[in-house]
Amino acid sequence: MKIAFFDTKSYWKDSFGPMAEKYGYEITFFNERLTPATAHLAAGHDATCSFVNDEVPAEVIRELKDLGIKVLLLRCAGFDSVDLAVAKECGLPVLRVPAYSPQSVAEQGAALLMAINRKCHLSYQRTTKFNFDIAGLTGIALYGKTAGIIGTGKIGQCMIDILKGFGMNIIAYDAFPNPNLGLEYVSLDELYARSDVISIHCPLMPATRHMVDKDAFAKMKDGVIFINVARGGLVDSEALADAVESGKVRGVGMDVCEVEHEYFFEDRSNLEKHDPTLARLLANENILISGHQAFLTEEALEQMAKVTLDNAKAFLAGEELVNEVK
Ligand code: NAD
Repeated sequence: MKIAFFDTKSYWKDSFGPMAEKYGYEITFFNERLTPATAHLAAGHDATCSFVNDEVPAEVIRELKDLGIKVLLLRCAGFDSVDLAVAKECGLPVLRVPAYSPQSVAEQGAALLMAINRKCHLSYQRTTKFNFDIAGLTGIALYGKTAGIIGTGKIGQCMIDILKGFGMNIIAYDAFPNPNLGLEYVSLDELYARSDVISIHCPLMPATRHMVDKDAFAKMKDGVIFINVARGGLVDSEALADAVESGKVRGVGMDVCEVEHEYFFEDRSNLEKHDPTLARLLANENILISGHQAFLTEEALEQMAKVTLDNAKAFLAGEELVNEVK
């Protein structure tokens, strides 16, 4: 199998390169993201391998089909980058990595929560300049506070385990509550009204785009801390910036952003003009943004490579495609 690998970075080459050799697959590593402008690079390959910020809309899928691509491999869990209806129409299976290390992703959520709450980023800025003044760095104790978890799937459950460790009370909302988890499920409105910390862990789909909007922020408790390590599009960024600037929201930790496509995974410090929404978010010291790195642990990278290549193997062997996105 010849795989056209898009949006390559050193950490991808390190994890996929040696493993692909063992499977006997040939990978061409392209630095470019997969977009309508770069889809032609996939000519001569059997599969594409894309990540979260590659763009696989209808026109790309049709072009890939014409180029002889037989399967679309996603080395991630989220599948919002792909037009699934058109992939189905073209007969191209979309295979993903549903779970590589949900603990790693939740741990990044917890890291952002702790950092924004205890203002570690501001402390670091001071101490590296020999400034050990701690005025203005007051946080809240998480012990005994209430955490509202939206989406109680694999990552949401890991986040719950971590937050229970801090002694937090957990309430949850899920479109499909899981009765086996012994959780207190509440309505979204109740979750907003009762939570001191809100962490969102559901997929981005047309139905969930901007589910956290101006109205949602208005329903939240004053001084809430909001964490998003799922997908940027779940949240209306301008409404989020308004809520932080007004003091309604105490702090935000986010690993994802709805305007991340042109920025994340790249050094964009030299751009003369920046996206105004991203610039607004970054300018606020109560918003801490990491660059979609929740997946970036040694364990997760190895698992992503293994499951992606196993998916390719199952496709070649005509076996059941257990990780197909339907
Ligand atoms: P999962 O499928 O195990 O869980 C998702 C949960 O969301 C499910 O319980 C589902 O019922 C629930 N859900 C679906 N629609 C909902 C809605 N409208 N409202 C509330 N809940 C809803 O997925 P997961 O492995 O826990 O991953 C969650 C998301 O995290 C993924 O979709 C992905 O976008 C994101 N993610 C981000 C990173 C990162 O590096 N930042 C890494 C992996 C995954």
